[in-house]
Amino acid sequence: MKEIIDRLADVHTLSREEYRTLLTEMTAENEEYLALKAREIRHAIYGHDVFTRGLIEFTNYCKNDCYYCGIRKSNQHASRYRLTREEILSCCKNGYELGFRTFVLQGGEDGYYTDERLVQLVRIIHERYPDCAITLSIGERSKESYQRLYDAGASRYLLRHETANEAHYKRLHPSNLSLQNRKACLVHLKNIGYQVGCGFMVGSPGQTVDNLIEDLNYISSLQPHMVGIGPFIPHKDTSFANEKAGSLAMTLRLLSILRLMLPSVLLPATTALGTIHPMGREKGILAGANVVMPNLSPTDVRKKYMLYDNKICTGDEAAECRLCLSRRMEKIGYRLVVDRGDYRTCDL
Ligand code: SF4
Repeated sequence: MKEIIDRLADVHTLSREEYRTLLTEMTAENEEYLALKAREIRHAIYGHDVFTRGLIEFTNYCKNDCYYCGIRKSNQHASRYRLTREEILSCCKNGYELGFRTFVLQGGEDGYYTDERLVQLVRIIHERYPDCAITLSIGERSKESYQRLYDAGASRYLLRHETANEAHYKRLHPSNLSLQNRKACLVHLKNIGYQVGCGFMVGSPGQTVDNLIEDLNYISSLQPHMVGIGPFIPHKDTSFANEKAGSLAMTLRLLSILRLMLPSVLLPATTALGTIHPMGREKGILAGANVVMPNLSPTDVRKKYMLYDNKICTGDEAAECRLCLSRRMEKIGYRLVVDRGDYRTCDL
């Protein structure tokens, strides 16, 4: 097993069977070795810095009906909200004062947010905070729309592919959504020049080891700048309410594998990881992650952006979140930095 891990660290890719061995035959000792190798690479490129992204969940309206999602359009129990431009700008102001240099505007696919409205918003944020990166996470749009938003000042885009397997994609999404379109969007984003993030849920209903291997191979071929993975956590108002959550151990293992596959990748220790285990984000960092994404949204809307049940940090002010995370990182030997946290190229 150690030889396979060493090889992944050296050549950043493995055969399907070797990935299968890593995913299914791991011992506690090898798990620790895998994390150690992941940390070595992470330290060589990013040191002990942890980048922060100020997350602004600006709308929970969505025209889609992804089966796993708590804010899917058919969930009648979701209490809908949409932040005004002034509210979003006030989140940015607050975030900037707290030391955030990246704002992530995340929302459902909300028709109210036309290209015109978004372009205007991005342009204002870019003008007011020229030293900050603007990340968008607003789903599938046209190539032209992505281009307009890039021209307005957005430079990063998160769009999880969710699963690279067609049949599994259909198990998680209604028929009007397609994996083909999702992948095409990621290619458009990359071609335009965005720093691009894809990703998937670990342990989503119907996911097999073969699916995970397909995910790894897809990510390897896309070569994204960021990869967001977190455990699947069921939401009570979805058809997956009674499904089992994804495992902490498998999520950590995949974080380490991703770090070895893509040495420079920006890899968040996600809120979902912190939700399934009280030390989940610390464990994620120790497995090779280098980003955290505390919430800058106003506290009165936080509980309404419930993609899954029991999400943490929905009651804390942004300042408390940042302080709490800063202490948590210091306790494990890392430090939150005031930095845009851009992707670094390396020749490891
Ligand atoms: S996962 Fe995204 S696109 Fe799908 S329903 Fe939820 S918010 Fe909408």
